[in-house]
Amino acid sequence: MTPAEALPWGIAGLSAVAAAAYAFAYSRACRRAAQLEVESARLREEPKTNEYRLERFDLVWYPAVTYAERDKLVVKAASGVPHCKACVAPLSSSGKGWKCPGCQTMRPETIADTAATDSVMKEALRFFLQRRADYRVAPELERFK
Ligand SMILES: [Zn+2]
Repeated sequence: MTPAEALPWGIAGLSAVAAAAYAFAYSRACRRAAQLEVESARLREEPKTNEYRLERFDLVWYPAVTYAERDKLVVKAASGVPHCKACVAPLSSSGKGWKCPGCQTMRPETIADTAATDSVMKEALRFFLQRRADYRVAPELERFK
């Protein structure tokens, strides 16, 4: 008995099975590639956020600028919560002021008033636009430019 005779379907049968397995793997790879292309397009359209670190008013701030790459548009800017400069811990507002959970230092409520948070946002936006001069800002952010 030759090796070919030992195979129930012969060489032609084996080739057909191999071809079918290859076709199956190929179609699976194509489907996966299409899924990855869709995911990649979604990620390109999803707004991205850049976070900065600023020291202002004897505090540390982590303002964030959110932008849409496709539209070259800044959609959001936020000052973030003030952090204790010594502990780099986020302060919490107690109504009487801002307290550091680390060193327990109290700071007046005015450290994070609108003027302070606006100036932090302005600084973050300025940083962003320095590096991306081709970006526009959403109308509600124009006053922070
Ligand atoms: Zn502290």
